[in-house]
Amino acid sequence: MELPFAESWKIKMVEPIRKSTRQEREQWLKEAHYNVFQLKSEQVYIDLITDSGTGAMSDRQWAGIMLGDESYAGASSFFKLKEVITRLTGFEYVIPTHQGRAAENVLFSYLVHEGDIIPGNSHFDTTKGHIESRKAIALDCTIDEARQTQLEIPFKGNVDPAKLEKALQEHHSRIPFIIVTITNNTAGGQPVSMQNLREVRNIADKYNKPVIFDSARFAENAYFIKTREEGYQDKSIKEITKEMFALADGMTMSAKKDGIVNMGGFIATRRQDWYEGAKGFCVQFEGYLTYGGMNGRDMNALAIGLDENTKFNNLETRIRQIEYLAKKLDEYGIPYQRPAGGHAIFVDAPKVLTHVPKEEFPAQTLTVELYLEAGIRGCEIGYLLADRDPVTRENRFNGLDLLRLAIPRRVYTDNHMNVIAAALKNVYDRRETITRGVRITWEAPLMRHFTVQLERL
Ligand SMILES: *Cc1c(COP(=O)(O)O)cnc(C)c1O
Repeated sequence: MELPFAESWKIKMVEPIRKSTRQEREQWLKEAHYNVFQLKSEQVYIDLITDSGTGAMSDRQWAGIMLGDESYAGASSFFKLKEVITRLTGFEYVIPTHQGRAAENVLFSYLVHEGDIIPGNSHFDTTKGHIESRKAIALDCTIDEARQTQLEIPFKGNVDPAKLEKALQEHHSRIPFIIVTITNNTAGGQPVSMQNLREVRNIADKYNKPVIFDSARFAENAYFIKTREEGYQDKSIKEITKEMFALADGMTMSAKKDGIVNMGGFIATRRQDWYEGAKGFCVQFEGYLTYGGMNGRDMNALAIGLDENTKFNNLETRIRQIEYLAKKLDEYGIPYQRPAGGHAIFVDAPKVLTHVPKEEFPAQTLTVELYLEAGIRGCEIGYLLADRDPVTRENRFNGLDLLRLAIPRRVYTDNHMNVIAAALKNVYDRRETITRGVRITWEAPLMRHFTVQLERL
């Protein structure tokens, strides 16, 4: 008999979690204004709001915590981190920051100016926020196929080279750089192929523009290249990683994702001029250059996490768990962005709640229903997250409207996946009875989804 697949780790420490009653959840959610970001974590049974900073560190990483060097300047933990980043990416200059958006803030303070246009593949919300707050434009050049959730293609996160080239022809002088998000979070954790990264590089070279990778899930992207792209089966994740970054000038990183730390981020680049230009903003916003926004111990844990998470077994364990959940949803006929992405399942809410009009936010409504059903906290990646158009102030209904079930790294077991799938099936089975959604009663001008207040209709 062939041995079944199992995790490449065993559990050394556990954290209790607690179930609740439907009545309790009704009350808590009302108090939270139907925004799951406003819930307390104790009010949640299985927390899928994000895979960011919620992973379980390894015993090696915890050991690294004890060895952290907290010196203000020149800490050995910084040099350890820098050495790993340079080894993995080839980038010589490293600026640590407290998380990914801080890396964006520091680098974009130098690179982005009013009136600029930044083409890329589905900019992440904080990336878009840091571009739009500087009165610049984030221009989405993702392939059209990414919007068809039921279409199964291997690299649905790709940049459309024709859209990118058109942008460069029309707006050449206004474009400071191209940004490619690996994996493409907003499109559903969908990977970008090496072939596509190469095409982007060629176009960038033709128009003499630099390329930045928003790299939060670069290791998962490398896993998909290894398992899906011709010619990479026999290469190691570290070899693929190196080859990917050879096609970029620099990167911003939320280390809370593929670094498997609870807090952290960095900028890395091969360009001395970017380093020189950005470093003053690091000192201004984050801290001195050898710690940025991080503790020495956290830089140690990150150095170890980056090394661990660029090993095949670790990534295989993670991504097969996402696939396990996806197979369950297939059994129940629940539509999600196909194929399953690297860090999450993205349920296609308008295809489930067909009676809820877009003006009443179907994905947010589904998020509310899933929480009420079983205390499972997902996250809307849809019309709320899309914010309003900065010029017209209209809601942006032109993208996807998804319920994201983000799976933290090394945290839940497949039994939890079974509970998630069953809860979603229960909501799915009564979908015809859900005819109304939610209405906004208060919202912030930018990144409203974190603090928006809603009422049920
Ligand atoms: C999480 C994330 C960011 C922002 O990072 P934070 O650590 O949350 O500040 C940027 N880009 C992508 C693709 C992300 O997933």
